[in-house]
Amino acid sequence: MNRTLNELVAEARESGTLEGLPQDHFIDGQYRPGTTEEHLETFDPGTGKPFARFAAGGESDIDRAVVAANRALREDWGKATPAQRSRVLTAIAQEVREHADRLAVVESLDSGKRLVEAQADVRGVIRTFEYYAGAADKIQGDSLPLGADYVGFTVEEPVGVAAQIIPWNYPVGTAARGIAPALAAGCAVVAKPAEQTPLSALLLAELAWRAGLPRGVLNVVTGTGAAAGAALVSHPDVHHITFTGSVATGQHVMRSAADNITRVLLELGGKSPVAVLADCDVEAALDGVLGAIYENAGQICSAGSRLIIERGLHDMFMDRLLQRIQKLRLGHGLANPDVGPVNSAQHLSRIDQHVSAAAGRGNLLLTGGKTVRPDSAPGGWFYAPTVIAAESAGDPVVQEEIFGPVLVVQKADDLDEVIALANGTDYALVAGIYTSDISKAYRFARQVDAGQVYINEYFAGGIEVPFGGNRKSGFGREKGLEGIKSYCKLKSVVAKI
Ligand code: NAD
Repeated sequence: MNRTLNELVAEARESGTLEGLPQDHFIDGQYRPGTTEEHLETFDPGTGKPFARFAAGGESDIDRAVVAANRALREDWGKATPAQRSRVLTAIAQEVREHADRLAVVESLDSGKRLVEAQADVRGVIRTFEYYAGAADKIQGDSLPLGADYVGFTVEEPVGVAAQIIPWNYPVGTAARGIAPALAAGCAVVAKPAEQTPLSALLLAELAWRAGLPRGVLNVVTGTGAAAGAALVSHPDVHHITFTGSVATGQHVMRSAADNITRVLLELGGKSPVAVLADCDVEAALDGVLGAIYENAGQICSAGSRLIIERGLHDMFMDRLLQRIQKLRLGHGLANPDVGPVNSAQHLSRIDQHVSAAAGRGNLLLTGGKTVRPDSAPGGWFYAPTVIAAESAGDPVVQEEIFGPVLVVQKADDLDEVIALANGTDYALVAGIYTSDISKAYRFARQVDAGQVYINEYFAGGIEVPFGGNRKSGFGREKGLEGIKSYCKLKSVVAKI
């Protein structure tokens, strides 16, 4: 019988772990030990202690998974009709709904994120499978206008085996946004979750199998990027790679893909601007700016990590923003504080180094700028919500992704300068604007280089909205109907009659 959310949280808080967590890969419809006995540990960022172990996969585990996925495509899954695929995706959504509490608690424990955020992520997973269940039997081609003597049409065919390389900040959400459209299109999947957060992808694969997904269609191999990840992206029998992670790793992945001419979609980093104009609804803008940078402790590719304020509003807005920030409570993710821990000790020190170096270069630290040990969670990895006034637009604190709870503030004289500053980094993932002037909002939307623009609500929209980056933020789009295209290859057929 399913245990209640409160029972699961109590068990996790009291014992530091949960019973029955998977330790092996999920390959060909079952948990299978790795080909070596090697295991790694995963840590609870709220306590800094290990709470589970998982298999350290390598080339031979990846190969078993890729073989299973290709076999599944030749057998049942390759023969399933679009309507049958749709029904399986609907059943997966239902299975996840029934196990949502456990999945959310595992996700919170593994990533450190607040339980309410993990619950929202799991609701997002359910929605993602529902959405692509509805799309699976609507992937259709065109008829081609060749005149009376020919019949021409196009068919969308599945690309084959799709690799998913998943980061640690939104483990289950990122897994679902790649896996669901791939399955809808008729592909099989081999996923490699981040070594910091391996558990939720394993549980998702198990739930999908329980829901009726044939064996081998969804496989999860855990392990490091250097061993399991590199083996997956260089495997010659993988036909598409969806990579979500850092720019440096994305470059490796693209090089490996080039060797086999494998298709690739890259979802990389960001340094996204949130513009606040003098005519905005200040309350809405304050809520939006805080959520944009402190949700998930700032570890979001699309975090609003650069605040660009029109000069006339600057002083009043910053006073109120800093007052709100002083009140934020930090704590263990399962206790639902305002801000949770960051994901690892190594990442905590990386954030601190970024901020110390920025202060050393003359940028002004307005609040935060230090690691914290909350009384309720003294062993965890916490960084104080931080705000820095940028010294210049070219400073690394403006240019580089910090991936933590660190907001950088820039001032602008008018909309033209706002847009110039917004476009002033190598990243182009997301841009947000708060204004009551719809013409200014649309002008910003048209002139800013970004994969998506949010007007008067940062992070607005859901699975229906295509998502992806330009320039160093990557290329290709996930989510929405656009997200299915990566998993399809178009064939044209022409007949002389
Ligand atoms: P990372 O690049 O270090 O790791 C991401 C994944 O790649 C992990 O699963 C890792 O094991 C794997 N990996 C590492 N080396 C590999 C290799 N040589 N071959 C194949 N796989 C390899 O990134 P991270 O630090 O885990 O994640 C943070 C980064 O991800 C940030 O830059 C963030 O902006 C970005 N991100 C982007 C999006 C997006 O949608 N654009 C979403 C989330 C995170």
